[in-house]
This record gives sequence, C-alpha cells and structure tokens, in this order.
Amino acid sequence: MTEREKLEIAAAALRHNGFDPVICVEKAQSAVSVILDWIEPDASLEMAGSVSVGQLGLLDLLRARGNPGLDFPAPGEDAGGRERRDVLLVSANALTLDGKIVNIDGMGNRVAAMAHGMRRVILLIGANKIVADVDEALDRVQHVIAPYHAKCLGVDTPCARTGTCSDCSSRERICNVTTIISRRPPGAQFSIVLAAEDLGLGWDPAWPAERIERIQAAYRVEIDKFRAALAQARKGAPD
Ligand code: SF4
Repeated sequence: MTEREKLEIAAAALRHNGFDPVICVEKAQSAVSVILDWIEPDASLEMAGSVSVGQLGLLDLLRARGNPGLDFPAPGEDAGGRERRDVLLVSANALTLDGKIVNIDGMGNRVAAMAHGMRRVILLIGANKIVADVDEALDRVQHVIAPYHAKCLGVDTPCARTGTCSDCSSRERICNVTTIISRRPPGAQFSIVLAAEDLGLGWDPAWPAERIERIQAAYRVEIDKFRAALAQARKGAPD
C-alpha cells in the first residue's frame, strides 16, 4: 500500500468517525495555507509542543501574523493561570487506519486539550504516523518513539540510556497519560490535515535506515529550537 493510499483510507475512516474537515495533501508544505486559513488572525493558540507544526514553520508564520499565545508562559506563570485559548494546533503520536487518534503524554496537557475545552483542534499528521491499528500504535509509541524522545530531551529515564522501554517508575517518566480518541467528542471541532510525507517523530523500525535517520535528524533540529526557546523564556530575556 502506498503512503497516499494509507492516507486516503485513514482520512475516510476519520470522516466516518465524525471528524470534519479531513484534508489530504501530497506535499507537507501544502498544509501550511490550509491551516492558516483555518485559524482566524486574532485566535489565541494553545502551546502543546509539536515537531510536525514546527517543521513547517507554522509557529513563526502565526507569530508574524499576530496570533497570540505562541510563546512560553512567563516565568512563574502556571498553565492554570493562563487564559482560555481558542485553538490547539498539534500533531498526534499515531493515527490508525480505522481513524483512531492515539497519544501518550507525560504531563497530559496536550491530550486533555485535544479531548475537551478548545474551540477548535487542528491536527497535522504525516504519513509516517499512520499505523494499522491501536495495538501497533501503542507498541510503536511506547517502545520505539518514547525512548528516542526521552533520549533527545535528555530526561533521566532508563530508556534514555538504553533505548528500550522498561515501564519505568522514574520521576521523569514521559509516558503517563494514554488516550485513544475513537470518535469526535460531542461539542469538539476537529480540523485535520494528513500529509503524504514524513512529519514529526514516527517510524516503523522495519523501514530503511535512511528514512528513519531522515525523520530523526529533522526531529532533532526542532528539539534544539525548542530547547533554545525554553531557555530564552526561563531567562525572561526579550526575543
Ligand atoms: S515508561 Fe519509562 S522507560 Fe518506558 S518509554 Fe516511558 S519513560 Fe521510557
């Protein structure tokens, strides 16, 4: 099955599960204009961290357009003190061919906002995140993606050292909240773009090493940017 065929099957399943609109694009860059059209120029955005979104330069474009909410909270400001945001723009850890959105979170802020409370949830998902079913999604995210993510973040977990998940009890464990969104929750508006290219962190270990390395390298670039922005915010220095 080609990436495009997988995309179309997953898109049809998402629509069947009540998600609308669901748009497929060949080139990931084509998702940019679609997403910018979906977000009103004055809509405030919820920051939940998405390498896929960062890779397309969407945050810079939205920031330049004046959309509020794209910067880290000021030092000392917690999430509870932040005003309610309009739009959550993120990716998902995995999407199944039968249209289920699967995520594993450390804090739970991303998945909580995805399930409830946002006026609109916009998901940008690359072809590399599409898997056969929920079992494959959970296995891949927990045992392949999370250990790599932990290593890149430099957290103190066993998987960051060994590359293997041991279902740890680490204080810095990054896998604490698992969600499977099977159908659109009532009252939630989801707008979803599926791109026939690789975006963000997701791969099957059986894929060619060159493709996996390309995905990892692009991911590390975004993680470095994230770290720099976080350090800047902690210093409280101006941009
Ligand atoms: S449960 Fe622990 S060891 Fe497993 S992937 Fe998550 S952080 Fe790593």
